[in-house]
Order: sequence, then C-alpha cells, then structure tokens
Amino acid sequence: MAAGEFELINHYLKPAPDEILPDSVLLGIGDDAALIQPSVEQHLAVATDTLVADVHFPATAPADLIAERSLRVNLSDMAAMGAEPQWFTLSLTLPSEWDSECRRDWVATFSRGLKACAKQFGCVLIGGDTTQGPLSVGIHMLGQVPPAEALRRDGAEPGDFVLVTGCLGDAAAALAVLDDDSTDSRRDYLRDRYYRPSPRVAEGQLLRKIASSAQDISDGLLADLNHICQASDVAAELDLDQLPMSAALAEAGESDAVRLATSGGDDYELVFTVAAENMPALAMLQAEGKLEATVIGRILSGAGVHCQWQGDVYQSSITGYQHF
Ligand code: ADP
Ligand code: MG
Repeated sequence: MAAGEFELINHYLKPAPDEILPDSVLLGIGDDAALIQPSVEQHLAVATDTLVADVHFPATAPADLIAERSLRVNLSDMAAMGAEPQWFTLSLTLPSEWDSECRRDWVATFSRGLKACAKQFGCVLIGGDTTQGPLSVGIHMLGQVPPAEALRRDGAEPGDFVLVTGCLGDAAAALAVLDDDSTDSRRDYLRDRYYRPSPRVAEGQLLRKIASSAQDISDGLLADLNHICQASDVAAELDLDQLPMSAALAEAGESDAVRLATSGGDDYELVFTVAAENMPALAMLQAEGKLEATVIGRILSGAGVHCQWQGDVYQSSITGYQHF
C-alpha cells in the first residue's frame, strides 16, 4: 500500500478515536491482521462478495451508494443464513489513473456511505487491503449463528410452503432507469431499491426456528429457488399471480413485471420454505409486524421449479423442467 493510501485508510476508514469498537474487536485496522473474539458456543458464518465497476455497478455511480450496495449485498448473505453480522474486511481496488485528489474525494464519500450502513446493521470494519487496478470493492463478512440454527438450502421438504420477503423485480426494473438523470418518484424508488437493497437481517434471525430452508435472491427468484430445490432434492410449484410486486414495477406492464420479478436479479429479498406446522409461528411474526412475507407456492417431490400464471403454465428458460 502506497504512503498516500495509508493516509487515506487512516483518515477515512479507521474508526475515529472517539468511536467505540465492540468488545469483540481486540485489535482493528492498523496491524497485520485484526484480532476478534467470537462468542463462545456460536458458529461463525463467513461470506464474501466482490463488486466490479461496470459489471455490478456503474463506474460513475456515487461512491457512497457503491459502498452501501457492496455492504448490503454481503449483509444479505448473513440474512440468508440467519446469522448476525459482526465484522467485515474491505478490499478496495482504485484506478491508477485517478489523481490523489480524486482518490481522496472518492474514499471520503465511500467511507461516509459505508460507515452509515455498517452502523445501521451493527457490524464493524476491522481491516482490508488497498490496491490499484480497475475499480472494485470486495467485502468479506463474518457473522455468528447459534449451532444447528443456521438457515441452509438443503432443508426443504415436500408439503412446505414457499415464501418471499418484500417485493420482487424492482432492482431489475431499475437497470433501465439508472442512467436517467431526471428525478421522479418512480425512478427514485427503483434506483434506491438497486443501490440500497434491504438485507433481511432481522427477518433471517427470526426465521431460524421457523424456516426449513432459505436463500437470498441475487440471481432471480426462479434460479435461486432452484438452488434450494437442488440442494434439498425436491421440486417447487409456484403461483405467479401471488408474486408481491411494487406499484413502480407494475407500471412496467403485466408481462414485463412478472418476467422481472421471476428472472431479474439483485433484489436481495429472502426466498424460504416453512413446514405447515410452523406456519402459525410465522403468522404471529407477521401479525406483530416483524416480518413481511408472501406465500407464493409449495414444495413437492421431484425436481425443478414449475410455475403457473393466469391459469396457464409459465415458461421461463430458468425454470428448468416444465411438467404442467
Ligand atoms: P499489510 O501490508 O500488512 O497487508 P497494509 O499496509 O495493506 O498491510 O494495511 C495496513 C493496515 O490497514 C491493515 O491493518 C489493513 O487491515 C488496513 N487496511 C488496508 N486497506 C484497508 C481498507 N481498504 N479498508 C480497511 N482497512 C484497510
Ligand atoms: Mg503486514
């Protein structure tokens, strides 16, 4: 790391002297490695996701939004495991053609977004790496989950209900309006859903003893639910008329909306399965306003994801098998 970058990290990413680190962080940014003290009798959940400019976000996007998106995507992996996010490291690759002023401005804005988001979700930056090359942001996230309570992909059983949190398709619909500078409430809403997805961290933890399987939706509902089906050796049958969609998505028109909600990625909602006997416990959480989820189908024996829409079989290249 070049001397200039050392200053940048110290100034913008290292916690300020008056910031209080959690007791679990014995040694944070500044040494060769951080030292953390995980809780006794908790399992560590470990995930990493790298976002590359012009692949996972537009290179010219505001740096605070790039930070938010990078952290939220990683938090979503913790949510999908039912884990409580705790610590993370950050691998920053900054373009060598940026001059020192440009780097400083970018890192200052980036760190503002990162710190606000980390605070909101109760996790802390403990180290990282800074290098030069095409702009990219890698985050390595560590969380904790009680033994045997993690939400895995391989627990779905025939008869289980299939549910999703929030609503689907907004992030995919946002791609069409990301470069549009006009402000209107629909564009602003979709853009926010793309850059600031809502990782369902609290919901994931509440589902630990209720869901039989879970995963977050990063590649699209059908593709991601198919991962659960493959890992659990089961099939899923979905009624796409039940898909939760925002008013902003509905404006795309019925058939585009259902395509974006089933095949568009980047929503970072949870798709999960619940056995019939656990549905009352889920209904209780919903009644208490702790979790918003919609039943969209059932698990069956067999393989693949099968969909019906408006009384007909819904064909999608991602659904795999179509037996209806
Ligand atoms: P080393 O050469 O030993 O790998 P570095 O000089 O790269 O260490 O980093 C010095 C310290 O700054 C380390 O504690 C490292 O974790 C931290 N650091 C470097 N880059 C970042 C970053 N992007 N975010 C947070 N901490 C960072
Ligand atoms: Mg070292």
